Amino acid sequence: MTYVITEACVGTKDTACWEACPADAIHPGPGEPSFGKHEQLYIDPTECIDCSACEPVCPVEAIYPEEDVPQESERSIAVNRDFFAARTA
Ligand code: SF4
Repeated sequence: MTYVITEACVGTKDTACWEACPADAIHPGPGEPSFGKHEQLYIDPTECIDCSACEPVCPVEAIYPEEDVPQESERSIAVNRDFFAARTA
């Protein structure tokens, strides 16, 4: 299981989740070179330890456990995963 950042992040891109994450699973964080190039933050499903710390601190309620992602946002599951697949390719 992993947590997922949905498209609700776009336009806000708050970094409270990044600060709260104990596993360094959320990227790009402020200070990373690509931070300004992406419209939202993403969760690495291979690094997330399912602690849930990120979910309540998001001001726009963009973060869900994978199994609870709203149907209209299901594409975000692949979007988060593919972001990290592209980084390591
Ligand atoms: Fe990080 Fe925990 Fe959120 Fe996973 S659930 S992204 S480990 S804060």
